[in-house]
Amino acid sequence: MQPAQLLKRFRINNGDRFDLAAHHTGDTHGVDKRAAQDLLVSAAKRIAALQDRLYAQQEWAILIILQGMDAAGKDGVIKHVMSGVNPQGCDVHSFGAPSHQELAHDFLWRTSVHLPERGRIGIFNRSYYEEVLVVRVHPQLLEGQKLPRELVSKAIWKERFQDIRAFERHLARSGTLVLKFFLNISHAEQRQRFLDRLDEPAKRWKFSIADVTERRRWDDYMAAYADMIRASSRPTAPWYVVPADHKWFTRLIVAEALIDALKGLKLDFPRIKAPTLKELQRIRKALEAERGK
Ligand code: AMP
Ligand code: MG
Repeated sequence: MQPAQLLKRFRINNGDRFDLAAHHTGDTHGVDKRAAQDLLVSAAKRIAALQDRLYAQQEWAILIILQGMDAAGKDGVIKHVMSGVNPQGCDVHSFGAPSHQELAHDFLWRTSVHLPERGRIGIFNRSYYEEVLVVRVHPQLLEGQKLPRELVSKAIWKERFQDIRAFERHLARSGTLVLKFFLNISHAEQRQRFLDRLDEPAKRWKFSIADVTERRRWDDYMAAYADMIRASSRPTAPWYVVPADHKWFTRLIVAEALIDALKGLKLDFPRIKAPTLKELQRIRKALEAERGK
């Protein structure tokens, strides 16, 4: 099966009946590592060509959201999928624990200020979705958010999903295409990657003691992720649930999803109008006739 055809297996347009257990973390659908790596090289070239048009046209913006447990491969996706992209048209932002200033604002503020401009690709390495993930798993974090007490009730997660859906609909209506990826890694593969991080000096810096604390809450995280996908998958802002036990497969699927989305925008270079074209021809002639100094 072609990777482009595989996409619809992973894309959740409507989350109502979403079942995370039906999505296998180790799936590769018959693609092998070598083939995937070759396909990724050609996908990166196609992304670069499409990005040139996106940048020249300056109408659409692309927002890529990456979510997943620690070591799920978010950084690797950014490094490998975007390898051919012109850095001038691309911004990456990582969101960790919020600062005092960020906590003094509503929960969509800190990411809003980093939304991509028209013509650009913005990548969020974690996002406002942490507000219904880590904060849901550790509800005591809500206390630090200094919300008026009467606004915090049991309905808070449902309300946050409503706000996120409204926000993403607003982005879609303003010309920002939102693509969301949940990198679906298994508990066993995370263990292996943590061990690798501990063993290899070049990877050790990536390991944080907090990662093990979060790992202990694995089931709570999976429940929060499943609920998030159910509540916030829409045709205009789908979630892709990407098998993440094989990095090379994850990267290929994310690349193909980006290509599919960019192609759907029917991007083209801006057309030059006839009078300007004439003027350009005149300038060309003048340049040709110029003598070297
Ligand atoms: P890393 O991506 O490994 O640098 O880790 C960033 C950490 O920040 C993760 O443990 C996230 O869960 C945490 N984080 C991100 N956003 C928030 C948030 N809004 N509130 C609390 N913790 C967050
Ligand atoms: Mg981490």
